[in-house]
Amino acid sequence: MQAVQFSEHGDTDVIEYDEFPDPEPADDEVLVDVKAAALNHLDVWTRRGLPGIDLEMPHIPGSDAAGVVTEVGTDVDRFEEGDHVAVSAGVSCGSCEFCRDGEPTMCVDFHILGEHVRGVHAEQAAVPADNLVPVPDHVDWEVAGSASLVFQTAWRMLVTRADLKPGETVLVLGASGGVGHAALQIAKYVGAEVYATASSEEKLEYADELGADEVINYEQEDFDDAIRDITGYRGVDVVVDHIGAATWDKSLASLAKGGRLVTCGATTGPNPETDVNRIFWNQLEVIGSTMGTPGEVDDVLELVWEGEFEPRIRDTLPMSETARAHEMLQDREGFGKVVVRPDSEL
Ligand SMILES: [Zn+2]
Repeated sequence: MQAVQFSEHGDTDVIEYDEFPDPEPADDEVLVDVKAAALNHLDVWTRRGLPGIDLEMPHIPGSDAAGVVTEVGTDVDRFEEGDHVAVSAGVSCGSCEFCRDGEPTMCVDFHILGEHVRGVHAEQAAVPADNLVPVPDHVDWEVAGSASLVFQTAWRMLVTRADLKPGETVLVLGASGGVGHAALQIAKYVGAEVYATASSEEKLEYADELGADEVINYEQEDFDDAIRDITGYRGVDVVVDHIGAATWDKSLASLAKGGRLVTCGATTGPNPETDVNRIFWNQLEVIGSTMGTPGEVDDVLELVWEGEFEPRIRDTLPMSETARAHEMLQDREGFGKVVVRPDSEL
């Protein structure tokens, strides 16, 4: 089969689309004929190399994909040939104290397909049945292949971890990115008042279309000042931050007394300065969140398949142009998801 792959870490020129041995499904796995796959910032980090993660080379990247089941391992009874499926990339051990407590995303051995082990940006992928979600036949391949990682992440952040309530105020940073655009839609669905930041008028218009009550161009004004203006110096109940160093202090400064900052990533770096006085005096909560449980994945993807949530597709490229897709992510061009499809499907 043809697969996106790299044999060393580096810039986008390490990415190749080339022959790779056909995968054979183990007893608990399903062979998926991939129709569409999406990129996440994680793919850029993995390609550059992450400290502490030693990959088996060549590595096939990719955590999001959807396709058709072509073969089923002997222990699998949830799927059969011809089913449409989407990948949910979080892998847990099932036996540690956190897994046994019903918290698989806190598993001591938690890992992600495409980040720690070979992923799904290929013509075919052998995927554990536990990492697949059924997709109704009417759902477009681009939608099916691009919703899972960002919508489960944003859903767990807001609904489970931040326990967002109707009528609360939420600030979503980087509302044009994958997690941002999912968080905006989920916060509106819960019944919150949502403020969104982005870096251009075009991206702000898009946030407005998705239902943001106020939009803030962070290139033109400090977003924490804008939040104080909008809320009459009160601040917001929840900030969704996946940006890290560049926004952290302003995120904390945007919170109301007792507010919650929920974070799932740090694309601008993991070591911001923190004003600890602000945290204890205002009695703030800093909440971490990673991926989603199978139950959370089912809940949020059901709403995607029904059309309640829309993963916006920025562009669809052939897999042979995956290097270009990585560039689009790292240069923050446009909004929504970048999708790649096997050249043989186009
Ligand atoms: Zn575990």
